[in-house]
Amino acid sequence: MRRRWLNLKKIAETIHGEVQKEIERIVGRYYFARSNGESFDLESFEIAIRSSMHGIGCKILEMFVNSDGGGYSDRTIPCENGHSYEFIEFRDKKLLTVLGSVTVKRAYYYDRDCRNGYCPKDRTLDIEGTSYSSGVRRMMSKVGAYRPFGLGHEDLYELADIRVSAKEVERISQMVGDQAEAFHAAEATASLSDNMIPISPVPKLYVCIDGTGVPVVKKETAGRKGKGEDGQAKTREAKLGCVFTQTSVDKEGRPVRDGESTSYTGAIETAEVFGRRIYQEAMRRGMDSAEETVVIGDGAPWIWNIADEQFYGATQIVDLFHAREHYWNVAKSCFGQDKDKLYISGQRNAARSWMMASRKRLLMPSIVAHSCRETIKRYVNGRSVILRKTRDGCGMRISGKEVSL
Ligand SMILES: [Zn+2]
Repeated sequence: MRRRWLNLKKIAETIHGEVQKEIERIVGRYYFARSNGESFDLESFEIAIRSSMHGIGCKILEMFVNSDGGGYSDRTIPCENGHSYEFIEFRDKKLLTVLGSVTVKRAYYYDRDCRNGYCPKDRTLDIEGTSYSSGVRRMMSKVGAYRPFGLGHEDLYELADIRVSAKEVERISQMVGDQAEAFHAAEATASLSDNMIPISPVPKLYVCIDGTGVPVVKKETAGRKGKGEDGQAKTREAKLGCVFTQTSVDKEGRPVRDGESTSYTGAIETAEVFGRRIYQEAMRRGMDSAEETVVIGDGAPWIWNIADEQFYGATQIVDLFHAREHYWNVAKSCFGQDKDKLYISGQRNAARSWMMASRKRLLMPSIVAHSCRETIKRYVNGRSVILRKTRDGCGMRISGKEVSL
């Protein structure tokens, strides 16, 4: 016990020393600039101080991570096949953390029978087979998910002072993606078996499905037809789904989504495979015990195929926003105007008055108005349209409900 305390005291002393040195260096730099009559360069100081704090953090982290003596537990440790791993030596590993690069000292063990070696400490620290800490891996996969792989590493450098290559961001994002996929697959399998602890039943479970184009690198679209000028696809459709529950309504009787109840799933895959994925997610969320299941989507046929096959008996609702978009597309082609173009070019008032005029025309008994209604009916194909607040009565009756489009 006494020895441990001495160790801690030594660590604290070393840290104090490092902090002291770093502070003196920064203050010295500031003093030098001031005595030379230079004006205070905020940006250069904020970046310099951050990097110096990271430097101190790195030393603290390295000390903490190596204070266990390298994770040496015994001369041998048991192998699961009945043999034993023998301690061979201590091996250093360079690890990139969110504070910078640290050297991790680890005890290396080898099992001669299984011909397998490993460092128990790597497992404890979750750094097996990688030279990035979990914090860095999280950041890499985050920028990898939001940005094209070729650009994410620039963000990491700019925002977090972490230097990695574009290729590494791609590799780690892929790895974390695979791990997430494996985790969800295991969860889904468990939810389909009877091993799950029953969760309290929900009155209504909603399943929303949509697809969106995701820009991808050339090799991902090789041979795929696209809308581009050269006929080559530049995006691939990611299929996305979310599941949430509803237990209450607001004072006007409109359904309210339960806070924090939404879970998401998605992948670039065929509708058939995605259908099973979203079904498993709904099952995981307790669809079995839901009093009513509601599927919400736009007019895309693949969505309603999934709804029919995987969610038989569910209430099918076409999202009003999508229905409305479709409705206005028809009006646009009939009345020869594009409100979106007006919006984009900043003519908001012109766009608004076009919409008001068009609404009036759509309400009048005319061929255009009739064809608008007919296409929207075909679009929703007998499904309900989700009812959002109607402000004025450009009413269309769909499934017996008054809807403002
Ligand atoms: Zn063995």
